[in-house]
Amino acid sequence: MIHTGICSDMIFLCPICVKERPYPTWCEGCGVKYFERHYENWTSGDQIIDKVIRYTQENTKIPVDFVEWIPYEQIEIRGKVGQDGFGSVYNAFWKRGPMFMNKNMFKSTKGIQIALRRLKNNTFHESLMGLYKSLKCFNATNFYTENAVYKPEISPIIRFYGLTKDAKGYMFVMQVAERGDLQKYLFDNFDKMKWYDDKLLILANIANGLRIIHENGLTHRNLHCRILIGKNGEAYITDFGPVNNNKNSIAQKLNCSAPFIAPETLKENIFTPKSDVYSFGFIMWMLSAGVIPYHYRKYDEDLKNSILIHGMRPPILKRTPPSFEDTVLSQNIQEIIQEIELYIKRNTPKPLPPPKNVNNSSGQNSSHIAIGPMPI
Ligand SMILES: [Zn+2]
Repeated sequence: MIHTGICSDMIFLCPICVKERPYPTWCEGCGVKYFERHYENWTSGDQIIDKVIRYTQENTKIPVDFVEWIPYEQIEIRGKVGQDGFGSVYNAFWKRGPMFMNKNMFKSTKGIQIALRRLKNNTFHESLMGLYKSLKCFNATNFYTENAVYKPEISPIIRFYGLTKDAKGYMFVMQVAERGDLQKYLFDNFDKMKWYDDKLLILANIANGLRIIHENGLTHRNLHCRILIGKNGEAYITDFGPVNNNKNSIAQKLNCSAPFIAPETLKENIFTPKSDVYSFGFIMWMLSAGVIPYHYRKYDEDLKNSILIHGMRPPILKRTPPSFEDTVLSQNIQEIIQEIELYIKRNTPKPLPPPKNVNNSSGQNSSHIAIGPMPI
């Protein structure tokens, strides 16, 4: 686990080029040169994949925005954790780990847990192009808006470490989210979750991730079932670029995710930032309900027709904070972020004055929602 120092105002001096760098674990110029020196040492066996990986390495700016070719010998698969219409996901261990800088040395992390995503062969190259288009989101450093109260130090977008290949084909190597997908997390933890302490952290991360995606001219298209939860309860958005832009995935979404998809999208098959915001509203609803909308019904053509023809919507639940009740009607993600920020400001307990005669030297602020350092 490496802290990037992204939120810090400190400047570090690179011992190699003797130029200032904003991150203790990376130098933009020296990082690019390091990767260029090693181009001849690897190939994926596929020219397009090589090109995409090199593009990320030639444009790396922060310690987490590049992708590497990872020989399969460096991977240990621990087990299959899921399968959906796009392919399979495995728990695995990357024995070498991603590169970072330690003083004047380029080093690999000492092995990390990873998730491997194997896509169906007929969608792989299309998905790779999705990854290429979404690279700008991976090197975004504006994890939160100006004047935000909630200031995470990690990106709300799941990281891509690179690609690997076994006898069956290529796989994406991704950051692991220890607590699984949002639906499972709610099932396991809903009874003890509180709005301020737990749910806001999830909503703020998703909203900021969606903002980054929209600011880069992209749409997610499948937000509701692509939210993962990390070990501290923080949320990550995944699969918006590499997996989510091919024709098969769009057809599948319309058939099995109707309650989360805006009616105009259901009618016309056109996804927009507004349709992502509509899906976000239903994630808020899930955080009030603890279950997916219409969990007692099959997601089929009948349900889709009930929504489209009869205008069926799930009820607003009493346990939803009043300020969020109309959020589903918001037109853009910035409005939602402002609502979340206002809610946090209104509900942040004022720190108690230190008790007399007690030397409080911890320096901790109880009102700050703290989450862990960026995993790389
Ligand atoms: Zn340097």
